[in-house]
Amino acid sequence: ELILAIETSCDETSAAVIKNGTEILSNVVSSQIESHKRFGGVVPEIASRHHVEKMTYIFEAAMEEADVTYSQLDAIAVTEGPGLVGALLMGVNAAKALAFAHNLPLIGVHHIAGHIYANRLVKEMEFPLLALVVSGGHTEIIYMKEHGSFKVIGETRDDAVGEAYDKVARTLNLPYPGGPHIDKLAHEGKVTIDLPRAWLDPQAYEFSFSGLKSAVINTLHNAKQRGETIEPADLAASFQESVIDVLVTKTKKAAEEYKVKQLLLAGGVAANRGLRARLEQEFENSEVELIIPPLSLCTDNAAMIGAAASILLQQGKFSDWALNANPGLELDTCE
Ligand code: ATP
Ligand code: MG
Ligand code: FE
Repeated sequence: ELILAIETSCDETSAAVIKNGTEILSNVVSSQIESHKRFGGVVPEIASRHHVEKMTYIFEAAMEEADVTYSQLDAIAVTEGPGLVGALLMGVNAAKALAFAHNLPLIGVHHIAGHIYANRLVKEMEFPLLALVVSGGHTEIIYMKEHGSFKVIGETRDDAVGEAYDKVARTLNLPYPGGPHIDKLAHEGKVTIDLPRAWLDPQAYEFSFSGLKSAVINTLHNAKQRGETIEPADLAASFQESVIDVLVTKTKKAAEEYKVKQLLLAGGVAANRGLRARLEQEFENSEVELIIPPLSLCTDNAAMIGAAASILLQQGKFSDWALNANPGLELDTCE
């Protein structure tokens, strides 16, 4: 079974060919970071234009690298949402055109389902499982009793973790996207600054990161007013420690309460070295099997979309020609 998958929900143009839902034959990712950097974030208009310009080349590269022809494919899969509407539309329309031209079924995939299914490219999923989704727009603990079933058991009330990383990075004058820069800086610093941890209701799996972000900004501001200097590396280390403490404590509790077989880490922030190391440490002697994708499968890529689409293909869940970009697509309702 061969699927050509397309991902254009934000600022990565990506195409991949996935065999049997688990094997990556190709996964070409073209990042637009350089084009958005000077604006300090993703500019939707620029993102859409880049997708159009790069797409044809990316598809060809993915097919060539996989060494397959369109007649060998079983389906075309594409991210239908959530994401930037203009960016999503580019992928959805291209996928429709390819499916129509080559007489192939079309499969719309939820972007976050894709992030979760990146783990399937590492190891086969075993249910029930929990996924800790930490990305630029999402921070959620998701329970899956079987393939295609997603129940959000807790999420952030305000900022997503990736968003908090990017905002803190901006106040430290680090380039966009800030997550990897804070991560690197954190490893050069010491946890010396006392920052809050938003535990909220200890029985619930809700998160909040806007207070922590404000605390970092205030710490810098106050120090500046007093003419003191704060070591950015120490601030980054303290911020990262606070984020990881809350994420890992709540996730571990959820994994025990829900008696799951596996814990999957998913989303762009899954690339965070500190988070990966702490989870590995916490789950070392646990009955729960921890799965963490390689760095290349954490941030946006089409391989993860192909892995998720393979299940939909097996279940016969195809999209029709009315498939449209849906920037607010919900995961719970995706069955
Ligand atoms: P979503 O997946 O919620 O729609 P998105 O697709 O924009 O949002 P991703 O591409 O999944 O987000 O992840 C990007 C985010 O991951 C950015 O906020 C980025 O700063 C963050 N990130 C990437 N690497 C790291 C890292 N090493 N440490 C912390 N954050 C990181
Ligand atoms: Mg991105
Ligand atoms: Fe993403």
